[in-house]
Amino acid sequence: MKIAVLGGDGYCGWATALYLSKQGHEISIIDNFVRRQWDHELGAQTLTPIRPLSDRLRVWHQLTGYNISSYIGDVTDYEFLVGMIQDFEPEAIIHFAEQRSAPYSMIDQRHAVFTQVNNVVGTLNLLFAVREHAPQCHLIKLGTMGEYGTPNIDIEEGYITIEHNGRKDVMPYPKQPGSFYHLSKVHDSHNIMFACKVWGLSATDLNQGVVYGTVTDEVEMDEALINRFDYDEIFGTVLNRFCVEAAIGHPLTVYGKGGQQRGFLDIRDTVRCVEIACNHPAKAGEFRVFNQFTERFSILDIANHVQAAGKKIGLDVEITHLPDPRVEAEEHYYNAKHSKLIDLGLQPHYLSENLLDSLLKIAVRYQDRIDSSLIMPRVNWRKSRNEKPQQGAVRAAVAGNGKNGGNGHHAAPLAPVASAKTPRAK
Ligand code: NAD
Repeated sequence: MKIAVLGGDGYCGWATALYLSKQGHEISIIDNFVRRQWDHELGAQTLTPIRPLSDRLRVWHQLTGYNISSYIGDVTDYEFLVGMIQDFEPEAIIHFAEQRSAPYSMIDQRHAVFTQVNNVVGTLNLLFAVREHAPQCHLIKLGTMGEYGTPNIDIEEGYITIEHNGRKDVMPYPKQPGSFYHLSKVHDSHNIMFACKVWGLSATDLNQGVVYGTVTDEVEMDEALINRFDYDEIFGTVLNRFCVEAAIGHPLTVYGKGGQQRGFLDIRDTVRCVEIACNHPAKAGEFRVFNQFTERFSILDIANHVQAAGKKIGLDVEITHLPDPRVEAEEHYYNAKHSKLIDLGLQPHYLSENLLDSLLKIAVRYQDRIDSSLIMPRVNWRKSRNEKPQQGAVRAAVAGNGKNGGNGHHAAPLAPVASAKTPRAK
């Protein structure tokens, strides 16, 4: 199958592109490298030394004989997106190419606006481009479990049957997102559902839980294929963050009581879930929703697991409770359904001692690259303007955008990379 992986230079996208290439699919990666720029903006870097995309693709070809092509450009640039679709003619498009950090979206007005413009406009462009140039193409979109929030009732997979005043209907499950980022995903979901209804497109929304781990069989083949491992307070997901904290003797930073429960999954299951969605496309006109996670933990559970695993390899791991910078319930009911992917064949990799052990060892191996000043949370949901590292650099970038962009509605925290319609590494 010809599969376009939007955001294929990122954490989930890179692992997915390699995995699907290995299964014999013809893969093309679409990315504008803005994620790498956000690292520069924040003065952060991935724990693992990732290589430029061109190097990664060359090494993948040398090792496996498989070719992955690439189109370097911005999905908010409609002409670029249409050019890619006309040239590559994908049968499935996997859309990972969004700003995916809740704290980033809560830094201030510009980061909130950037997040929503990047994510909502990118997805809207994609819907129009598919409608006009590849209406049979199956769109697989990464949503998030965070769209649902933490209601005091069971969370269903996308839809809920409601009885009201003696009448009954199946409705989209109510959404109570917890950040401007999560709101952007809800807006996306509405736009995709509408496009499926009016244009007969077929789409699968994968409401993904928090992903952990960095190793898949493919990225493990060579150091040059290594995946991102974000640990900073803005982009690091919780288990990855805790492993890095444990490796350098920093107390694990549990926000509030730590009773916040979330769905989690191993990155090896992310790639498999996406493959399952590709192999079982939604019907024409169908907006299908899968909840993509395999286990539920509280943040304190995760901290306890890391503490125990650390002890086994001789690390003395403390747990600290910080005032919660987010506005969220610190203890709550949580029971989210997640059986549809299992029914289609997903065999989960559950969180194990081995996995924790390997993550901790990666953190210890690259501990020289860890900047401990990036660990403590600085972005407070209650404020509309937050200070952050590299503040001076951001001010300069924002000022530049203001000059060019006029009213600031399209203000990007850093200038976007130029789009290129020409495929590379084909
Ligand atoms: P990531 O930031 O590592 O990767 C995203 C990639 O998309 C980056 O390479 C970035 O450069 C690219 N990108 C962003 N905007 C773009 C644009 N306008 N044009 C072209 N490329 C663009 O993020 P990730 O962790 O791989 O997440 C991928 C998707 O999965 C996101 O949509 C995210 O919301 C979703 N998700 C991730 C997690 C998680 O735990 N990582 C959990 C739930 C959902």
